[in-house]
Amino acid sequence: RAKKAGPGTVRFFEEADDKVSRDRKALQADLAGAIARDELFLVFQPFLDLDENRITGFEALLRWQHSSRGLVPPSEFIPIAEETGLIHEIGEWVIRRACATLKEWPEDIRVAVNFSAAQFQNTGILQTIVQALADAKVAPRRLEIEITESMLLSKYSSAASILNALLELGATVALDDFGTGFSSLTYLRKLPFSRIKIDQSFIRDMLVQPDCAAIVKSVVSLARDLNIEVVAEGVETADQLDYLRQIACDEVQGYLIGRPVSADAVRALLDTKKLRAIFAA
Ligand code: C2E
Ligand code: MG
Ligand code: MG
Ligand code: MG
Repeated sequence: RAKKAGPGTVRFFEEADDKVSRDRKALQADLAGAIARDELFLVFQPFLDLDENRITGFEALLRWQHSSRGLVPPSEFIPIAEETGLIHEIGEWVIRRACATLKEWPEDIRVAVNFSAAQFQNTGILQTIVQALADAKVAPRRLEIEITESMLLSKYSSAASILNALLELGATVALDDFGTGFSSLTYLRKLPFSRIKIDQSFIRDMLVQPDCAAIVKSVVSLARDLNIEVVAEGVETADQLDYLRQIACDEVQGYLIGRPVSADAVRALLDTKKLRAIFAA
C-alpha cells in the first residue's frame, strides 16, 4: 500500500519508524534510572469478597512518574523492562515495596503482585520473595503472585518449579487474565492455583452477549468444582455486580468497587474502617 501511495509515503513511514524506535530508546534509558530517581510507585486496587462482604486485599499495580512525560502506563514500560532485563530489578523493587506496605495493613488483608514471564528465568526470584517477606515480617499466606497464561506458555518448566516452591512457602498463586490465553484448562490441571481471575473483557461483554455470560458462569462453576476461588476483573456496573453475585462468584475487582489508590489512601481507609463499612451488608 505504501508503494502505491508513492515514495514520499514510504519515507514518511520510515521516518515515523525511526522516531518510534528513538523514542523507545529514550524511554529505555530513562527507565534504567527510574528506581534510583524514585520515580516508581505502587497503587493498590481492592478485592471485594461477595459472601463475606468485605475487602480481603489489594492488587499492587506499578506506576512510573516520568519527569517530563508525566505518568507512563505499565502497558508501555513493562514490555520495555522485559526486553531490556530491567524487569528483574524492577520486579524486586515491586515485591519489596508491596511487602513493606502489607506490613502496615491488618492480618486478614492480602496483597497481590503481578509477575512477568522473564522473572521466572531468574531462580533467585524465590530467595528475593522469601527475603522480602522476612524483612517485612509478614506471613507468606498474605502474599499472592499473579501470573498470566501466556507466561506459562513460554516459561512453563521454570515457572512450575518456582510456583510449587512458592506454594510450599505458603504464598498463593493466581492465574491472571483467565480466558485470554490458549491452554487455560491444561494449566488448571497441572498447577495448583489458589485463584483464577476472569479477564475483564468477559466481564465487559457478559451482559450484552449471552454466550459470554455462559462462559463466565461456567468458569465460576468449574472453579468451584476444582476448589479454586474466582475473581472477576473489571467490574464497572451494578448490573455486572448483581449478575456475579447471582452466579456466586467469590471476589470482584473493578472501578465500581474501587480504583487503584496510593498506599496512604488505603491506610486512611483501613484506619477509619470506612473501607469495610462501605460494603457492609
Ligand atoms: P492486570 O494485572 O490484569 O491489572 C488490571 C488492569 O486493569 C490494571 O491496569 C487496572 O488499573 C485495570 N482495571 C482495574 N479495574 C478496571 C475496570 O473496572 N475497568 C477497566 N477498564 N480497567 C480496570 P494497569 O494498572 O494499567 O495495569 C495494566 C497491566 O500492567 C496489568 O494488568 C499487569 O499485567 C501489568 N502490570 C501492572 N503492574 C505490574 C507489575 O508490578 N509487574 C508486572 N510484571 N506487570 C505489571
Ligand atoms: Mg493482575
Ligand atoms: Mg488481569
Ligand atoms: Mg469467599
